[in-house]
Amino acid sequence: MAPRKLAAGNWKMNGDLAALAEIDSLCGTHGNASCDILICPPAVLIHAMKERVGDHAIAIGGQDCHAKPSGAHTGDISAAQLKDAGASHVILGHSERRADHGETDADVAQKASAAFDAGLVAVICVGETEAERDAGQTLDVIGRQLSGSVPQAAHAGNCVIAYEPVWAIGTGRTPTNDQIAEVHAFMRNKLAAAVADAADISLLYGGSVKPANASEIFSIAHVDGALVGGASLKASDFGAIISAL
Ligand code: PGA
Repeated sequence: MAPRKLAAGNWKMNGDLAALAEIDSLCGTHGNASCDILICPPAVLIHAMKERVGDHAIAIGGQDCHAKPSGAHTGDISAAQLKDAGASHVILGHSERRADHGETDADVAQKASAAFDAGLVAVICVGETEAERDAGQTLDVIGRQLSGSVPQAAHAGNCVIAYEPVWAIGTGRTPTNDQIAEVHAFMRNKLAAAVADAADISLLYGGSVKPANASEIFSIAHVDGALVGGASLKASDFGAIISAL
């Protein structure tokens, strides 16, 4: 088996019911694409988006979940609730969650275990800051985040890893092909020490992926797809990225 190709869209805190029209258009043109397609809208749109997608092969995901299955956690959403609403995946440990909500690697690992228990695929994000890259610490940071954030129960069927350099997110800047290749090869090796079928885990690149740079990024070894923010909001842009995969 080879890693599955995955084009994943992260809508972040964007979109509303009217924006689901983008999904209609995506279903029309890419509902039977050869790669896997995932869209992670704000949680309030998951159910409606799932209904809208119908039988088309487009998976829906959350952007975070709580580590507990239920209880007195005002404002939080459990993995089981995401699943119940129609999600099959959940993004965890995005750098915006790590920065805005102080999420640690241990928090991410607990959430990932909760996602596995609920039957969701966890899309676990890692990535260095610009200061860490400038200080030559990139692989140390990625190694530490992988060790701390990916539970032992991870395997190719329940886990996807996204390498998202913090300085490339929403900035229009991307690493060089060699820099992406170095991190992805490192991640593949690092996972092999911990996960039996690491060779089959999909490794995504994320950070300013656009129609214009997608095919070049997808040609890099061990890049099995992308986690796309801004360019996932419009079906035309996201569709072009899907076509490049
Ligand atoms: P971007 O975001 O594509 O807008 O850079 C990527 C992400 O944060 O997942």
